[in-house]
Order: sequence, then structure tokens, then C-alpha cells
Amino acid sequence: MAEVVIVGAGVMGSSIALQLARRRAGGIVVLDTHGVGQGMSGRSSALVRMHYAFRPEVELAVASLALFESWPDLVGAPSVLRRTGLIRFVRPGEVDRLRANVAMQRACGATVELVAGPDLVTLLPGWRCAGDELAAYEPMGAYGDGARVASDLLARARTLGASYRPGVAVTGLRRAGARVVGVETAEGPVAADVVVVAAGPWTPALLAGAGLEVPITGELHAIALVEDPQAPAGPRPACIDAVTRTYHRPDGPGSTLVGAFSGRPWSDPEHFPQHPPMEELATMVAAAARRLPALAGGGIAHGYTGIYDLTPDGRALLGPVPDAPGLFLAAGFSGTGFKLAPAIGVVLAELILDGRAATVDIDAFRPDRFQRGEPIRPAFDYEDGLS
Ligand SMILES: Cc1cc2nc3c(=O)[nH]c(=O)nc-3n(C[C@H](O)[C@H](O)[C@H](O)COP(=O)(O)OP(=O)(O)OC[C@H]3O[C@@H](n4cnc5c(N)ncnc54)[C@H](O)[C@@H]3O)c2cc1C
Repeated sequence: MAEVVIVGAGVMGSSIALQLARRRAGGIVVLDTHGVGQGMSGRSSALVRMHYAFRPEVELAVASLALFESWPDLVGAPSVLRRTGLIRFVRPGEVDRLRANVAMQRACGATVELVAGPDLVTLLPGWRCAGDELAAYEPMGAYGDGARVASDLLARARTLGASYRPGVAVTGLRRAGARVVGVETAEGPVAADVVVVAAGPWTPALLAGAGLEVPITGELHAIALVEDPQAPAGPRPACIDAVTRTYHRPDGPGSTLVGAFSGRPWSDPEHFPQHPPMEELATMVAAAARRLPALAGGGIAHGYTGIYDLTPDGRALLGPVPDAPGLFLAAGFSGTGFKLAPAIGVVLAELILDGRAATVDIDAFRPDRFQRGEPIRPAFDYEDGLS
């Protein structure tokens, strides 16, 4: 009998396992159909930013950054972040929102500043910025590696006593009345007091089998890698740009990763196109090159895809499921979960063990908020939804 079964060994399941193990929560078993970091975590662009419009998300990002910065202490492995700085552009009509959000982020402890016209030219030589443009710059902005983060977190959890069973698919939930008392797997049942589902875009199908509906839909996204051996080797910030609706970041010397804000609906995370059409990649890179013209001179080396687990308000479902006592969700991160993962482990462990998340109040993320007509609507949300 396990005290806690965690379904999914992505960055979320692994982080939750580690924080439960650090608190000596008892028998912790992590099950994954595939293996650690082999889900969407391993396909993540892994940008780290503090720029959100919703205060608890900023607080989670700030708490996570502190954990990323103490990575060797947390997991006993070398640091995982590459610091590039990060610039966030918004659409011209949303500059007041940007100002309000930056003020809120600073109040939460984020290091972020507003950069205007001439200073943008100095900060971003060779980029195209309008003379009256205003952007938010985070000097601590960075990127990481989702597969490595999941595997570092899980390795440490295992050192502290958690068990890990790769290649074991959870096929259903075990119930005693409404209560969830474990999981069914292809290799037999596993009893548990608490089940945490951190199965990314697989979550809705898994829970549907148990008669539980969760508002998560899949969205297929393409990533392009642009190689330009001639690119200047100097530092260049990562960028999230609502004007071109693209993002990009360095990906090692002479290489840039480019992604887009939009994707297309895709419901099956086990089967999806692995290679986006070259025309789609070329369109994305051309859009990003409107901001960073040097990208137009590079060649597209290759592309790949990944699936976002989207909720109607673009924010995660975190916490207990009221219709199923014993069941907790940490899913629906809507394409923005990598940077939050270290703190998600902390708050889920608090919620499970103490009944309340003290590090950050995550009550607004409760999984039944849509049924209750309480989606998250920050005061200064952006139209691009990427906030
Ligand atoms: C292309 C792309 C780019 C992204 N870029 C960023 C970014 O720049 N910054 C950022 O912060 N976030 C980003 N994200 C989002 C971030 O990567 C995800 O939010 C995060 O990785 C989700 O982790 P997870 O652990 O919830 O899910 P996953 O990593 O998908 O893990 C779920 C695991 O559950 C397992 N599983 C599923 N069903 C079962 C079952 N029935 N039984 C057992 N195991 C099961 C799967 O095998 C998988 O390993 C991006 C995502 C994608 C796809």
C-alpha cells in the first residue's frame, strides 16, 4: 500500500514526488506509461519568466526561480538554467496593462523593468522596435531543459525513498464509494490514500474512464530550430512577442528556437504528427524575423511538435477534486508549466499533507472553478492569453 500514488513522471509529478519525499510523506509511488520526462516536459521550450498577469502565478514563478537557483542543493545535480534575460512585448493597446502587471510583479519580488524606445535599441541591437514601444525586461529570464529537470527531481525523490515504476500505465481509478483509494494499472492495482494525477494532456482521457470530466483540451504546437553559424555569438535575450505572436530564445551557439502563440486542436497525446510541415515552420520564423531580422538569414534545421494541455482560462487545475475525495490534480498548465514546476511540488505537498498551501495561495486554481462559474480573470489580462 502506497500513501501517495503519482500518475505521471513529467516535471510536475517528479516535483510533487520530491517535495512529498522531503517531508517524509511515507510510501510514494510514481507511475508512468513511458518514462521520466518523456511526455511534454521533454518537448518544452522551457522558458523561465516571471511575467504573468495573475498574481499567484507570479508568486509561483518567483518561488520556482529561487528553487531553480538552488538546484545543486535541491537535487544534488549541476545547475539547469541558462540565463539569457527575457523581453516581453505586448500589443500597442496593452501598454497600460503591461505597466500594471510589471508593478504587481515587482511587488511579488520579481526582478523586472520597463524599457522604452531608445533603451530598447541599446538593449536589443539589430532588433526592430517601434520608437514608442514599451516592453518588460527580466534580467533573470532564462531557459532550462524539461527532460533534465524531471529526471533530476525524480532522482532526488528516489534517493529520499520514493519509488518509480516506468512503463506502467494507469488504466483507471479505484473507488470505495466516491472516495479514490488507488489506481488500476496494466500490472495490477495499487492501493493508496491519495492519488495525484499529473498526466499533462493525457489527464482528460484517464479521468473520463472514471466518470470524471475535466476541462482540458489538447493543442498541437510546432517548434522550429533555426541554425545560423554566422550569428553573432554575444548574449541575446529570450523574447515573447505579442506583436508577431511568436517567441524565441537562443538554443546554444548559432541556433535559435522559435515557437508561436497559436496551435491547432489535437486530442490524442499518444499519436500526433512529429514533424510540422516546412511551410508552417517558415511562416513562424518569418513572423519572428519581423522582430529579429537576423532570423530571416538562418536556415531552418528542423522542427518538432508538442501538445499543450489547455484549460478554458489558460491556467492550471490544482488541488482536490470535490466529487472524488482522495484525488488531486496538477494538470492543465496550458503551455506554461515548466517554469512553475519546482513550486508546484511545494504547494501540492503542502495541500496534501497540511490541507492548505501556505507558500502560495492556490485556491483560485481549484479544479471545479468552471463548474462554479469562477474562471480566473486577472484585472490586466492580455488578449494573447499568454499571461
Ligand atoms: C512545445 C511546448 C513548449 C512549451 N514551452 C514552455 C515554455 O517555454 N515555458 C514553460 O514554462 N512551459 C512550456 N511548456 C509547458 C510545459 O512544458 C508543460 O506545462 C510541462 O512540461 C507539463 O509537465 P507535466 O509533468 O504536467 O506533463 P508531462 O511532461 O506531459 O508528463 C505527463 C506524464 O504522464 C504520463 N502519463 C500519462 N498518462 C498516464 C497514465 N495513464 N499512466 C501513467 N502515466 C501516464 C506521460 O507518459 C507523461 O510522462 C511547453 C509545452 C510544450 C508542449
